[in-house]
Amino acid sequence: MRKWHELTSVEIDELIQAGFETALLPFGSIEQHGKHLCVSYDTLIAERLCEDIGITLEKSFLLPTIPFGLSDHHDEFKGTLTFSYKTIESLFDDLITSLEKNGLKSLIIINGHGGNYPFLKKYFEQKKTTLKVFHDAEEQYIFKAQLMDSNLTRSELGLHGGLYETSMALYTHPKMVRTEFMNYQNKYTEMHSIQDILSNGLKKYYAEGIIGEPKNSNIELGKAFYDYLTSFYLKELHDQK
Ligand SMILES: [Zn+2]
Repeated sequence: MRKWHELTSVEIDELIQAGFETALLPFGSIEQHGKHLCVSYDTLIAERLCEDIGITLEKSFLLPTIPFGLSDHHDEFKGTLTFSYKTIESLFDDLITSLEKNGLKSLIIINGHGGNYPFLKKYFEQKKTTLKVFHDAEEQYIFKAQLMDSNLTRSELGLHGGLYETSMALYTHPKMVRTEFMNYQNKYTEMHSIQDILSNGLKKYYAEGIIGEPKNSNIELGKAFYDYLTSFYLKELHDQK
């Protein structure tokens, strides 16, 4: 895998002529993750996944990251920087046109933020492009990896800033976790649907900005989740070949 933004125009041209036709795109968000996790974690995890997945993909480029996502439902908390649906839609329209003009054939989108899934699903159902596009909006791997063979319930795993995400952050980006602030009493109950949260904002239901309890998060669990997550992508991308 070669990093697009570290190459010259001539080098990119030569690589494309040599059969480099796939681009990986990390897509994240900048949004509050409670008092213990940094605002960019969804972006950092998308980048980390792209780097680890990209190693196994021959003749591929890593594109610069889209660091912002759809985080309206977090905008009552400081630190959230969100793009509107319209802005993200225009951004993808323009990026896809550019990739087509460069002669690329396929685009793999690795998404680190749950709130981006409804966009990806709707957008690519309608979008006409010559690119073959992979994204996991149907499968939602970042949530699916929670359900690996552990004895933990969904409520223990949590959704946003909970045990699952915080453990993974401790494994992939330990400096981004304030371990002294992990001690919440805030169990995830599934009383409110994701759609309720997306429509009405998180603060209405979860005043502290997280869904779940990160207090027992640890690196070993984080590694197990992360390995599960990468294995979903690697299997899917290899099956597609
Ligand atoms: Zn997150």
